Amino acid sequence: MTTTVAVFGSCNMDLVAYVGTAPKRGETVLGREFHTVPGGKGANQALAAAKAGAAVRMIGAVGEDDFGAEIRAVLQKSGVDVRGLRTVPGRSGTAHIVVDDEGGNSIVVVPAANAALDALADGDEDLIAGADSLLLQLENPFSGVAAAAAAGRRNGVRVVLTPAPAAPLSADLLSKVDLLVPNEHEAAVLAGAEDPHRALAALLELVPEVVITLGARGSLYGDRTGTWVEVPSFPVDAVDTTAAGDTFVGVLATALGEGAEVPEAMRLASAGAAVSVQRAGASSSMPTRAEISALLA
Ligand code: ATP
Repeated sequence: MTTTVAVFGSCNMDLVAYVGTAPKRGETVLGREFHTVPGGKGANQALAAAKAGAAVRMIGAVGEDDFGAEIRAVLQKSGVDVRGLRTVPGRSGTAHIVVDDEGGNSIVVVPAANAALDALADGDEDLIAGADSLLLQLENPFSGVAAAAAAGRRNGVRVVLTPAPAAPLSADLLSKVDLLVPNEHEAAVLAGAEDPHRALAALLELVPEVVITLGARGSLYGDRTGTWVEVPSFPVDAVDTTAAGDTFVGVLATALGEGAEVPEAMRLASAGAAVSVQRAGASSSMPTRAEISALLA
């Protein structure tokens, strides 16, 4: 059964410079290579779900520049429904990323057009209402995220929130979230507890289901009925972990929407993320369903 996933979130162009050592303040260094790759947590999750086999609807905003046209084209090429993707005056969001030889990075994000996604527009509620799941992140104005969550809840759609970048969340927003998927750092910030098991228990006071992703150490699920699931990561040689979490969420939502039980959906999500960390870039690293299945075979 094909599942339908709506994404309300950010679209950026990632501008990635590869250098030996990142420059200090006031310093200029020569880079080795430069890539532009569509990214942003919203677009990443949309592409991951589409490549995993979901019918995906993207609600987002790009600028009137070439980057906006390229982001739209990449989403469309992956079969994503872009009726909810508006083009607004000004520039598209950009992420200015410097990656050094040790794989470390520093990033400046300029939200630009993403700031326009501060409310639902005509047609958005219908796009959300017809989906099985709604994927949200925190790279757009809070008012927009809250409005989308409310629309999801009103229409009986499973609301999945990736609380990144980490920020305090209102009780009202949390009351509309079915599944929260923080990484370890975000979980610690939200729960006020460093230990993932304790953080998970604290977060279950706020939402009914939680998955904490733990990088190469895997992921942890819990719900209010007392179910706990721990899934190790796949042992692979990681070259670029950008968007591992977004791939995980996109595949997880797809598998759950298809009716998979949580342990199976977590295994698929982990396999998808493991494929993505073996490749450079954000949107360019997302695996197809066949590639995910091959790792699980
Ligand atoms: P990002 O911000 O880079 O998108 P994240 O911090 O949101 O990532 P992580 O917890 O780092 O998310 O990773 C998400 C999932 O990806 C993990 O639960 C794991 O399944 C997989 N993963 C991450 N790093 C590795 C790795 N080195 N090897 C294998 N799997 C990995």
